[in-house]
Amino acid sequence: MGTQIGFNPNKLGKLWNALARLALHIEIPTSKQATVKHYGNIDGIREKVGQTLAEIKRISEGNMLMSSGIGQEVSFECYCGSKNKRKHELLEDGQIINCINPDCDESYGYVKSDMSFGRRAFEIVCRRCDTRQDIPKRMVEKLRTDQHIHFDCEGCAETIEVSWRPMQAQRPQS
Ligand SMILES: [Zn+2]
Ligand SMILES: [Zn+2]
Repeated sequence: MGTQIGFNPNKLGKLWNALARLALHIEIPTSKQATVKHYGNIDGIREKVGQTLAEIKRISEGNMLMSSGIGQEVSFECYCGSKNKRKHELLEDGQIINCINPDCDESYGYVKSDMSFGRRAFEIVCRRCDTRQDIPKRMVEKLRTDQHIHFDCEGCAETIEVSWRPMQAQRPQS
């Protein structure tokens, strides 16, 4: 979702290591005969700095900045078209984000491992034609026990009603 540009810590790490190797004057000789160079290879450093800058630029051109800086924002576009933004450091894994649009019932669960937002949906199945469709989970959560909501089946246009029902269960005897 959105136009997030992937951040590859390995790639940046590799460039960083290459830079450190070239720019730091310490080089471990591979044999006793090998001479220790005291100055970095200027052309090599220039090339690596160029590559590193290009990588940083590529990342920063995405709408998601993922450095450890404070105040970075993560954004995504809701199904309703509204753009939602959150401060990266305030987001916790599994946190539920409601769309900022007051007329929208969509909500998303934040997945920290890949910094994505998963739509929270409730699946309804048409008993007539078996068509499945997702409705916003928050619509169901907001529903009172004496209310119901209805949807038109996307397959056969049949009206599907959603309401809360008490359910009975029995614990197995131990
Ligand atoms: Zn929305
Ligand atoms: Zn149907």
